[in-house]
Amino acid sequence: MILVTGGCGFIGTNFIKKFLTQYPDIELLNIDKLSYASIVDTSQITHKNYIFEKGDISDASFLDMIFKKYKISGIFNFAAESHVDQSIFHPRKFIESNILGTFNLLEKSLEIFEENENFKFLHVSTDEVFGSLNLNEDPFDELSRYKPNSPYSASKASSDHIVNSFNKTFNLPTLVTNCSNNFGPYQHKEKLIPKTIQCILDRKNIPIYGNGKQIRDWLYVNDHCEAILKVFFNGKLGETYNIGGSNEIKNIELVKKICRLMNDLLSLEINSETLISYVNDRPGHDIRYAINSSKIKDNLKWQPSSNFDDNLLDTIKWYIK
Ligand code: NAD
Repeated sequence: MILVTGGCGFIGTNFIKKFLTQYPDIELLNIDKLSYASIVDTSQITHKNYIFEKGDISDASFLDMIFKKYKISGIFNFAAESHVDQSIFHPRKFIESNILGTFNLLEKSLEIFEENENFKFLHVSTDEVFGSLNLNEDPFDELSRYKPNSPYSASKASSDHIVNSFNKTFNLPTLVTNCSNNFGPYQHKEKLIPKTIQCILDRKNIPIYGNGKQIRDWLYVNDHCEAILKVFFNGKLGETYNIGGSNEIKNIELVKKICRLMNDLLSLEINSETLISYVNDRPGHDIRYAINSSKIKDNLKWQPSSNFDDNLLDTIKWYIK
C-alpha cells in the first residue's frame, strides 16, 4: 500500500486522481489533517483501492496507529503548511508540520525499511529553498546552495536536509523533488492565480504585492504529478530532482494575461485590468525563482507536456465552472 500525506491539498488532490487512474490496482492511503487549505473532494473519493484517514503527521501517536493498521510500502510526502504569507503570521505551524511531521514519517519509515528493503520515501519540496535569484543569474540546479528567506521555505529546507540525512546515515531509500510554482485545478484561493480569477469574477480589486515585478517559473500541476511519479518509480535513490516549467513570467504580466483571457472569455462589462491594485510588498519577498530541470529531463525523460497559455485558459475555465 502507498501512503500519500497531505492528499487533500492542491497538488495532492491532483496527484491522487492521477495515481488512481494510472495505477487502479495499487492501494492508496491518504492521510490529511483537513486544514483550511484542504479540498474535501479527495477525502470523499470512492474507489475500491482508496482509503482516507484524518490525522496530523506531527502527531507521532497518530502515525503509530496508522503504521500498525496498514502495511505501507512507499510514501509520497506532500503534507505541509504551504502559504508563505501564513508563515509570516504563524511560523510555528510550519515548524510543526513541515519539519517535525516529516521527521515523524522518517522515523516510522526506518521501521518499515528494516522489514522491506523495497520501501521508498519521496519528499515533495519546493524551489523556494534556494532563495531568490537576480535577473541575470542562472536558474537553480540540484547543486545550488540552500538560502531560504521565509519561515515556509526555511521549514521546507530543513525537512529536505533531514530526509537526505536519513538516506546518508541510515541508507533509507529517499528521493527529494524541488519544484517551481504550480497552477491548475483545486488550488486554494489564497494563491495568486485563483485569487486573481476570483477577484475578477467578484469585480473586486486584484491585490499585487510591491511593483509586481517578481518573477516565478510556473508549471502545470499535472506535469508536476507526472514528474513525481517518474522520480518515484525510476529516480536514483538518495538523489534530488529539480522540476520546473521554464515559464518565467512577472507576477504583474501573469495577472494581466489572466485579465485579458477573462475579458474575452466572459465578455466583461469592464476591462478587468482596471481592478489591479498595488499593495505593500510582502516582507522578505523573493525577486525571482527559476529552475533548471535538465537532470530529470535527461535522466528520466520527463518533459512538461503542455502549453502554458492553454493550461492557463483551462485553469480559468475550471475555476469559473
Ligand atoms: P496545500 O496547502 O494546498 O495542501 C497541503 C495539504 O497538506 C492540506 O490538505 C493540509 O491539510 C495538509 N497538511 C498540512 N499539514 C499537515 C499535517 N501536519 N498533517 C497532515 N496533513 C497536513 O499545498 P500544496 O500546494 O498542495 O503543496 C503540497 C506540497 O508541495 C507541499 O509540501 C509544498 O511545499 C510542495 N510544493 C508546492 C508548490 C506549489 O506551487 N503549490 C510548489 C512546489 C512544492
